[in-house]
Amino acid sequence: MSSGYRNGQVSHWLAGTGPTRTSWAPGTGPREVDVAIVGGGLTGLWAAYYLQEHRPSLSVAVLEAEHVGYGASGRNGGWASHLIPGNRARYARGPRGAAGARDFQRAMFDGIDELLAVCAREGIDADQTRGGNLVLATTPAAAGRLTARRDGDLRFGLTEDQVHWLDGAQARARVNAEHVTGGLYYPAVARIHPGKLVTGLAAVVERRGVTIFERSRVQAVGPGGVRLATGDLKAGHVLVCTEGYGIPLLGRRSMIPVNSSMIVTHPLSERDWDDIGWGAAECLSDAAHTFVYAQRTADGRIAIGGRGAPYRFQSGTGGDGVTPAATVRQLVGRLDRYFPRAGVEVAHAWSGVLGVTRDWCARVSYDRGTRVGTSGGYAGHGVTATNVGARTLVDLTLGRDTALTRLPWVGYRSPRWEPEPLRWLGVHGMYELFRIADAREEKRSLAKTSLIARVGSRLAGLHE
Ligand SMILES: Cc1cc2nc3c(=O)[nH]c(=O)nc-3n(C[C@H](O)[C@H](O)[C@H](O)COP(=O)(O)OP(=O)(O)OC[C@H]3O[C@@H](n4cnc5c(N)ncnc54)[C@H](O)[C@@H]3O)c2cc1C
Repeated sequence: MSSGYRNGQVSHWLAGTGPTRTSWAPGTGPREVDVAIVGGGLTGLWAAYYLQEHRPSLSVAVLEAEHVGYGASGRNGGWASHLIPGNRARYARGPRGAAGARDFQRAMFDGIDELLAVCAREGIDADQTRGGNLVLATTPAAAGRLTARRDGDLRFGLTEDQVHWLDGAQARARVNAEHVTGGLYYPAVARIHPGKLVTGLAAVVERRGVTIFERSRVQAVGPGGVRLATGDLKAGHVLVCTEGYGIPLLGRRSMIPVNSSMIVTHPLSERDWDDIGWGAAECLSDAAHTFVYAQRTADGRIAIGGRGAPYRFQSGTGGDGVTPAATVRQLVGRLDRYFPRAGVEVAHAWSGVLGVTRDWCARVSYDRGTRVGTSGGYAGHGVTATNVGARTLVDLTLGRDTALTRLPWVGYRSPRWEPEPLRWLGVHGMYELFRIADAREEKRSLAKTSLIARVGSRLAGLHE
């Protein structure tokens, strides 16, 4: 592992960028708008896009505390996935039952199509490629989990064409990783470059007349507008799109910022790629409890992430994302395990936070009384979900009754997180249980998921 890698600085995807737009102040911006959007990540920008699409006459301002893409939207692994942001079994317990969860699943597949269609229509080049998602099993217990996952997928509305079981040879024909005994393949999933998507979308909404203010931190939201250090901006509607980076606005016990860390390698040689394969830009993950997620970038690197250091006491976000050397070593270790012959050199490491509710279920809500709405809690599955969530939030804001506004995450309420230090102990305890479970399953070649992991899943509310 090279020691001269960049560390933090938001991410490889946005390296060298920073604020370029003016801050909001009574003299530099409007004193009143129809809609104020707090947060310049994908949720906020998609919301601005669809507001303009439906009502071009509305005045819309995006207020971003740092710069466009500073949050998870500019730091993520670049998977536009079909995964429901939350526990589908819990959504199925809502008033619409399993049909509601299945509609939600369909909306997520439609969300990938919609994301790709907007990029094509608006000329956003985000290295988007629909290469699917390959989930690898490297132990008998992991293979068992994938079989159960596929059964659940089919129960919750996926078709046989949307999820394929691959045996070891078929999986390795796609990506020649060591120790692989089987896998699942989801062809609909797309790889994107997160930095290009979020900055491209910002440019599109600006062309359509939305004003984006950077270095404009909102201190309070309420009926009728938002408060910044520089003054008050009146607004007919306020949409809070801050996810894991805006916990103080949403309440410290409604959501916590869970950390995820990534590394990107220098470009690999043609020889390495010939050996590894991975020719279709598949989004790659594994079925370990402490899973990793990866993509082959358009310029021939591997970007891989995982949840090395999961949570900071008192919901810290970790600022620009400086990542501990031990976490970088863990991620390099996973790459070495899968691709031991490749010459992997780390170019950049960074971290970011995602918003997680107590039961890992996301929600979209809009209060007609206060005219304040929000979408978030995507728990690490936000690239597609921000699009679906923002379209839903816009429909609610404009009073449109649509299939989206009837999905089970609309108005969904999760339990509150415990106060500190229980929160810190709980999250760290859960990840420790998962780490121990992975080690036992691997060492003993367990045929079934270890009891330790099953206890961890139940405590966390992750089991279906
Ligand atoms: C390392 C990592 C890897 C991930 N990988 C994937 C993946 O591969 N696929 C996937 O689907 N999901 C992934 N996710 C999750 C996904 O990136 C997020 O769910 C999604 O980007 C959330 O978008 P958002 O716009 O809601 O929030 P964010 O992108 O976090 O944006 C929130 C914005 O609000 C701003 N803000 C906060 N407070 C204020 C305030 N008071 N005033 C003004 N502005 C404020 C922040 O500065 C920030 O820019 C990953 C996340 C991380 C961290």
